[in-house]
Parts: sequence; structure tokens; C-alpha cells
Amino acid sequence: MSIRTVTVYAASSQALDADYIDAAARLGAVMARRGYRVLYGGGGHGLMGAMADAALDAGGQVHGIIPEFLTRVEQGHQGLTSLEVVADMRTRKARMLDGSDAVIALPGGCGTFEELFEVMTLKRLGQFLGPIVLVNTRNYYHTLLEFLRHSVTEHFMSQTHLDMWQAVPEPEDVPGALEQASPWSARTALETAAVQRR
Ligand code: AMP
Repeated sequence: MSIRTVTVYAASSQALDADYIDAAARLGAVMARRGYRVLYGGGGHGLMGAMADAALDAGGQVHGIIPEFLTRVEQGHQGLTSLEVVADMRTRKARMLDGSDAVIALPGGCGTFEELFEVMTLKRLGQFLGPIVLVNTRNYYHTLLEFLRHSVTEHFMSQTHLDMWQAVPEPEDVPGALEQASPWSARTALETAAVQRR
């Protein structure tokens, strides 16, 4: 599929090991070089800020979407291609997926998990059909991926659902993963959404 606009979920934390910051910056540069337009949470700090800065430095287009209350406690990134201020977190999450062809999750905390799990659920139900790629820096997502497999073993999800996302070790692997992602259709989603008794 042709990928033009990519949503990036990423940590706000400013206390991370340099490996994570390096990976976020490399992802931003890779996105820009590929000509992908980036949608993200609009923050200027943490992995969000590192990704956005590097994408902008490499000539990319980066659009931030931030809820109004967060602009008061922290500055949204000031150098973005555009910064949209929205009413609340729910509106922000929906806007971050509007017109998006794919989702990438860098390492993050509960905010990133929540965004990632929402888009996984939307894909399971056929409401989002694009690739979902996790950047597994320092094997950060190892236990999460294992837990998702455990939910398949225990029949909360089916084997097919494991095709909805991929994890890659390096940011440079992301474009290939996006372009080679298993196809997903609303029909496949609805046929497999419920796990049936065998
Ligand atoms: P977390 O991984 O818990 O740091 O949350 C980061 C994710 O949630 C990002 O993808 C953002 O969309 C959103 N988010 C949480 N906290 C902030 C913040 N302080 N500034 C901007 N976005 C945030």
C-alpha cells in the first residue's frame, strides 16, 4: 500500500537512556527522508520532541495535535509545520488518526500504550486498516509482545490478530515493515474479530 501520512506515538519522559532518544531521532530522520508526513502528539520533550526535531531538521512535515490543557502546563513544540490545539485528549487521539495510513509506536509509558491499544482494537474491528509497527529499542516491548501472544494462547484473541502489528529492532527497519505489512481488510477484521469456540 502507498504510505503518505504516518502517526507516531512516543514517550513524553525526559529521563530516558540515550539509546531511546537516539532511536526517536533516527525515526524522525527516516520518516522525513522517505517523504512521510508525520502526525504526533505535539510535545516538544521526550521521545516525541526528539522525533519531531529530527524529522524537521531533515526537511520533513510534522503536524502536532495537542489538547488545550497541555499547552498550559507544557509548551507544545514551537517549530512544527503545524500545531493543532484541540479540546481534550479524546479529540486529540481521534485527530491523530484522521487521514493516517500507518501507526508507529516508539517506546513509551501508559499514554503510548493507550494510543497503541486503541489503534490495535480499531484494526481488530476493521476501523483502521493500516500497518502498525512497534520500534523495539532495547527490546523494550518484549514483555508486551509476549503478553499479547499469551492472550492468543488463552483465546482472548486469535492467531490472525498477531498479524495486525510487527515489531522491528531499528528505526531504519520501519519503512520496509510498513511497506511489507500483511494486508488487512474490514472484511477480514469482521470475520475474525470475535474468537469462536473451536
Ligand atoms: P507517555 O508514553 O505516557 O509518555 O505518553 C505519551 C503519549 O501520550 C504520546 O504519544 C502523546 O500523544 C500523549 N501524551 C502524554 N503526555 C503528553 C505530554 N505531556 N505532551 C504531549 N503528549 C502527551
